[in-house]
Amino acid sequence: MHYLDHNATSPLRPESLTAITHALALGGNPSSVHAKGRAARAVMEQAREEVARLAGAKPDQVIFTSGATEANNLALFGAVEGSLAETEVSNGGSGRITRIFVSAIEHASILATADRLAERFPWLRVQRLAVTADGVIDLEGLRVALREGKGHALVAVMAANNETGVIQPIAAVSKLVREANALLLVDAVPAAGKIALDFTLCDYMVLSAHKIGGPQGSGALVARETAPLQPQLVGGGQQKGLRAGCENLSGIAGFGAAAHALADSEGERARIAHLRDHFEAALKQAIPETVIFGVERLCSTSCFAIPGLSAETALIGLDLDGVRMSSGSTCSSGKVAVSHVLTAMGVEDQLAAGGLRASFGWSSAMADVSAAVGSLLKLRERAPKRSKDPRSKDGKSKDQSEAA
Ligand code: PMP
Repeated sequence: MHYLDHNATSPLRPESLTAITHALALGGNPSSVHAKGRAARAVMEQAREEVARLAGAKPDQVIFTSGATEANNLALFGAVEGSLAETEVSNGGSGRITRIFVSAIEHASILATADRLAERFPWLRVQRLAVTADGVIDLEGLRVALREGKGHALVAVMAANNETGVIQPIAAVSKLVREANALLLVDAVPAAGKIALDFTLCDYMVLSAHKIGGPQGSGALVARETAPLQPQLVGGGQQKGLRAGCENLSGIAGFGAAAHALADSEGERARIAHLRDHFEAALKQAIPETVIFGVERLCSTSCFAIPGLSAETALIGLDLDGVRMSSGSTCSSGKVAVSHVLTAMGVEDQLAAGGLRASFGWSSAMADVSAAVGSLLKLRERAPKRSKDPRSKDGKSKDQSEAA
């Protein structure tokens, strides 16, 4: 089996499995004051330190959640509702959030949550920010958006995209956001462990354990102490009242262990980059018309299309050959929708419908690369021949694979 779908979920690291089983065997409620509770709390606080280090944050800024989806919901709902009390800038607050800017390539847990907020609060305006053909946020567009209109703003830009791996200029985004006295939410799910994260550039950061070799159903919101944040799960006073409910100790322990494994991840990153680069070079050599999307990317991700080969057909063929990959498109209610990320980059629908993603991680090996390229070549040879391969909607965009 050749697993090249680490951006969907990365296999559990052995260190993480050990930490999970240890925590399960340990038991104990981290809120109990007796010795068992204190032991459970020690495990949780150790994990909090590891996760904080991964984010470039302080441990007491970390709020454990059931994953990044919950963390993104908590950040957006929590920020807007938390800001409602801050109507007066003169009170030391920055005022009620009335505008949300999200990059057009954000994950559904940001886009759908922002839309839900707009439905709930009619005075809230949600605007999607364009990206360039290379998949990078249009900084000038952000600057103009922040300058125009009145009211406190929250901006959501991911550290790197989960489909293309394209790295976003968070330092530059942060500068613009700070100048506008706005708030910044960074979804760092695919970027964690692949590039250095610096929480000090933002107000909220979101992480997910299962994308770094930890367990599913475990994630975190990292939040600046002074940033508005209204809890969304209320009840007990766990996690300073910001997220009620007994913590998922084993999930948190596994998350911490995966984050710890990444503390010294330069070697792992170099190995992954080598595999990904080798994959792309071999693919281009075998099938020269392959289009690779995005330029400045995470070491882990390759998003590409082979003109004439639909993603659906490719995924079935790859799977039969034991190669597990993803498509950029999503299938819901029997209808295949083209990736909103590739669409935002101006990729023509027909080409985008062939968008595939190979994502590499800690367990990937050269045998996976060879199997994937071999299988794709076989599929390409079987696919109907095409006369013309339009690359972009305006037909002008250069073959991005040249620069990849
Ligand atoms: N954000 C991004 C960028 C993601 O890729 C994902 C998972 N696909 C999520 C958020 C949601 O993560 P989780 O599965 O932990 O809810």
